[in-house]
Amino acid sequence: MLNIVIFGAPGSGKGTQSARIVESYGLNHISTGDVLRAEIKNGTELGKTAKGYIDQGQLIPDELMIDILASVFDSFKDSKGVIFDGFPRTIAQAEALKKMLTERGQEVSVMLDLEVPEEELMTRLIKRGKESGRADDNEETIKKRLLVYHSQTAPLIDWYKKENKYCHINGLGTMEAIFAEIVDAIEAL
Ligand code: ATP
Ligand code: MG
Repeated sequence: MLNIVIFGAPGSGKGTQSARIVESYGLNHISTGDVLRAEIKNGTELGKTAKGYIDQGQLIPDELMIDILASVFDSFKDSKGVIFDGFPRTIAQAEALKKMLTERGQEVSVMLDLEVPEEELMTRLIKRGKESGRADDNEETIKKRLLVYHSQTAPLIDWYKKENKYCHINGLGTMEAIFAEIVDAIEAL
C-alpha cells in the first residue's frame, strides 16, 4: 500500500492536492475535516461535539479523532493505499496512526509537508471563507487555527524527520507545479 500523510498549515492546499493524488494513483482519501463537516451537516451527536471545537479554532480531542480514523480506514476494502489529509495533527495522533498501521501490517510511506508562507495562508483562507461560507474561515478563527498549528501540529515535522518519512514540498506556486513536485516525491519512493 502507498500510505501518504499530506501535511501543512490550514489553507496549505492539502485538500486540493489530495484530490489530484487520488485521481492519479487511485488511493482512498481520508479528510478528517470533511468527515467532521459531514457529521455537523447531518446533525449527529459527533457533529455537535465537533462544531464546538471547530468554531473556536481548536482541535477535536485525540481519542475521538483516533477512533474515527480507524473506522474510516477499516471501511476501505482492497485498498491500493490511503491519503491521510488533516490527520495526524498532534504527536499523540501520529503515534496512534503508526500503531494502527503496524497492527494491520502497514506503514506510512511518506509525509508530504506543504509549506506556505503565513501571509499567503491568511489570504487564501479569507477568500475561501467568502466563497464557501466555512464558518471557521474568518479572520479571528483563522488566527487561532494558525496558533494551534504552530503549537500542536508543527512538532510533527521533527517527529516524521526522525521516522525518515519527511518530505518538504513548496506549497507556493501553481497547483500544477506543486503537484509535479509531489509526483516526483512519490515516484522516488
Ligand atoms: P486545509 O485547508 O489545508 O484543508 P484546514 O485546517 O482548513 O486545512 P480541515 O482539515 O478541514 O481544515 O479541518 C478543519 C477543522 O476540523 C480543524 O480546525 C479542527 O478543528 C478539526 N479537525 C480536523 N482534523 C482534525 C484532527 N486530526 N484532530 C483534531 N481536530 C481536527
Ligand atoms: Mg481540507
